[in-house]
Amino acid sequence: MANISDYRIATLGSHTALQILKGAHDEGFKTICVCKKGQEKLYKSFGVADEVMMLDEFANFFELEEKLIKKNAILIPHGSFVSYLGWEKIRDIKVMHYGSKGILEWESDRVKERQWLKAAGLLIPKVFKTPEEIDRPVIVKFHGALGGKGYFIANTSEEFYDRIKEYPGEAGFVLQEYIVGVPIYMHFFQSSLTGELEVMSFDKRYESNADSIGRIAAKDQLDVNIRTSYTITGNIPLVIRESLLPDIFTMGQNIVKESFNLKDHKTGKPMEKGLFGPFCLEAILDPDLKFYVFEISARIVAGTNPYINGSPYTWLKYDVPMSTGRRIAREIKQAIESGRLEEVLG
Ligand code: AMP
Repeated sequence: MANISDYRIATLGSHTALQILKGAHDEGFKTICVCKKGQEKLYKSFGVADEVMMLDEFANFFELEEKLIKKNAILIPHGSFVSYLGWEKIRDIKVMHYGSKGILEWESDRVKERQWLKAAGLLIPKVFKTPEEIDRPVIVKFHGALGGKGYFIANTSEEFYDRIKEYPGEAGFVLQEYIVGVPIYMHFFQSSLTGELEVMSFDKRYESNADSIGRIAAKDQLDVNIRTSYTITGNIPLVIRESLLPDIFTMGQNIVKESFNLKDHKTGKPMEKGLFGPFCLEAILDPDLKFYVFEISARIVAGTNPYINGSPYTWLKYDVPMSTGRRIAREIKQAIESGRLEEVLG
């Protein structure tokens, strides 16, 4: 029987690395953390990385690839990995990669992810093609914006043209209907070995300054001309109304089902393995309890970080603290031990 001691779990030191490495350790794997120079001390301090490799920049990842291949490393992608390398470069990775690379293109492209969400029958915020069409509050999202920084709200086309002057360098943006409700981020895990979908956890984001504007009276906000921004600073754990779970589960199942119809841009054919592993639906829940899904992440999300010790939902199913990072490692371990590793790589 193939043994997990022949492999290493590796990831970049950022985003959900601590959780991934800890989870891999808990499942008995040796681990490698690829760190940016200067950050290695921090990553070593938690004791979850057996080995630390260093890079000047994450974008130079390929300098280390041979070394990782020699160590039989299995690389776990996460949000920083996708944003530093981009889905196109990820396709060139030769080291073993957990998850479907082709799917990352779909989640990284706002137009494509919308097609996917729509085809899966999910409710999505309306998108306005031109500022002239604005007939309700919209959130203006710049293509290059990282972590929600620099978005703004406009209620009319006049307001849009007035505000956009403050962003002279920004070329591409989407005008998305602003949904008034509460943000809920749903974390799932789709097992390629059992074909089952698992609800892992939920979070909401802690965004600056959106989450602190309520601490200032409306008059003061106007007086000092405060603009809302959605810069992500952290994640807050959340338990949702149990009566919402059946809908959430169905949404997750539909997304997975539809992923088998998505075409791989390289081959032009539908992706055989579809979406598997961790993924997240990002939604606003309105007062009528309708979920408007505005984004999908087809990999582990940082919102799972509050649950390194497991979530209330994973505690129902597992008798050990099961984080999403650990769930990934367990899947890989079971795949190795049953001779099915190929099925979880992409
Ligand atoms: P994003 O970068 O797309 O994840 O969005 C950043 C933040 O903006 C989210 O966490 C929400 O708080 C908010 N947001 C994004 N899209 C919408 C929307 N369509 N309606 C209301 N709020 C939104």
